[in-house]
Amino acid sequence: MSIASTSPATGQQLKTFSALTSEILQSKILEADQAFQKYRHTSWVQRSMWLHRAAELLRDEQQSLKWAQLMTLEMGKPIEQAIAEVQKCASVCDYYAEHGAKLLAPELVTTDASQSWVEYQPLGAILAVMPWNFPFWQVFRFAAPTLMAGNVALLKHASNVPQCALAIEEIFLKAGFPAGVFQTLLISAAQVELVISAPQVKAATLTGSEPAGISLAQAAGKVLKKTVLELGGSDPFIVTASADLDEAVTVAVKARLLNNGQSCIAAKRFIVLESISAAFTTKFVQAFRQLQIGDPLQTTTDVGPLATLAGCEEIDRQVQISIAGGAECLIGGKKWSGLPGYFYEPTILKNIPPTCATYQDEFFGPVALLFTVPDLNGAIALANDSPFGLGASAWTQDAAEQERFIQELESGAVFINGMVKSDPRLPFGGIKRSGYGRELGRPGILEFVNIKTIWVK
Ligand code: NAP
Repeated sequence: MSIASTSPATGQQLKTFSALTSEILQSKILEADQAFQKYRHTSWVQRSMWLHRAAELLRDEQQSLKWAQLMTLEMGKPIEQAIAEVQKCASVCDYYAEHGAKLLAPELVTTDASQSWVEYQPLGAILAVMPWNFPFWQVFRFAAPTLMAGNVALLKHASNVPQCALAIEEIFLKAGFPAGVFQTLLISAAQVELVISAPQVKAATLTGSEPAGISLAQAAGKVLKKTVLELGGSDPFIVTASADLDEAVTVAVKARLLNNGQSCIAAKRFIVLESISAAFTTKFVQAFRQLQIGDPLQTTTDVGPLATLAGCEEIDRQVQISIAGGAECLIGGKKWSGLPGYFYEPTILKNIPPTCATYQDEFFGPVALLFTVPDLNGAIALANDSPFGLGASAWTQDAAEQERFIQELESGAVFINGMVKSDPRLPFGGIKRSGYGRELGRPGILEFVNIKTIWVK
């Protein structure tokens, strides 16, 4: 089986790699375990220095541009966004380097013992199965806390971003982490079960689609290993009458189209109160009309191609089913043929009926679903009428409305008057079919540790 890098902007193959044989895979798993036996005894100060060094490398202007270009070439995100992504990776390395020791410090607890406390100890090799949409960020937000906690990492990246996967391994090695502490495994999805079932691998995290999450959780369940799953989303973006409409529209466009519309926490369903629906819709459509589609390596491009041909076909299939099922297409609704790659026109679909097969789908591309509701109750009910529960953004100046959104929206995060985003300081993750467990913040670093109780008399 081969793992291939293909430019989505041109459809041309850039490079191919062979998947690791079972023997080499096995030896890499053993190497990870051997590395862990030494690495677990390194100090927090030492790990923190290596993480800060990784951040410095990521901030190096020339190098970071090279990595950003690699992301854009392999998966098509606009280059400015790729540059910002590399910088964000530096920030998560610095965050855990600075705060890791404090987040993991033993906690004294008064009990009937002479002394009792809780310690947070590493588990061993952790497998990360990652998606292509943020090829650097997804990996760093897993790796920084995991390595700081004293674990070692095995990365199975998406098959369409192998060059990014190898570049990340190189960064950790250059930063000074010992060989074997962070390894990229060029393997297929079918080989994942082999890795999770190896006794040296202690737990796994997966960011990706529901089927992939289910498959990994089943394999891990068979051998009783912990998993963290960050899966899909269909985040609501609710706009009420008291919202700053211009700001809401500007952010709505960004929140939907960032990364060419391929973000789990992208706003996907725009739920607007009837009283401002006409004004919002006019401005929203107008803003979509002004977007520049094209080569993602050009800094003037707002929307580049979808990462894969299959992704482009799938979004078109969903759009056509929605229109046939009763949705009104306000703009777009078809592939963009200005260049030979996998481009789709930024699209707005109004009022997909609940009877339509796509009503509860996640649209993973530049397609906004717009809904009008009579009141706040209707907005909350519609927002929660989804199998997903990742993030939610609500726009209102009214304190009572804000409180209702905070209490009643079924999601892992609620952002008031702002777009949903990840931040190293705040936990990130979902409920319902968006997955379980958390990344980032203190909960993120505690996912893969042994929370050990110590009792001494
Ligand atoms: P995907 O097909 O599930 O791929 C993600 C990763 O899982 C890839 O490394 C893939 O490897 C692997 N994989 C696929 N099937 C597998 C299986 N049966 N067993 C083990 N591993 C398997 O997802 P995608 O289409 O690339 O990404 C889009 C989805 O990810 C969307 O639903 C999006 O919302 C979600 N996502 C969620 C978050 C979050 O934080 N919640 C963030 C980003 C994306 P191959 O490439 O080799 O198939």
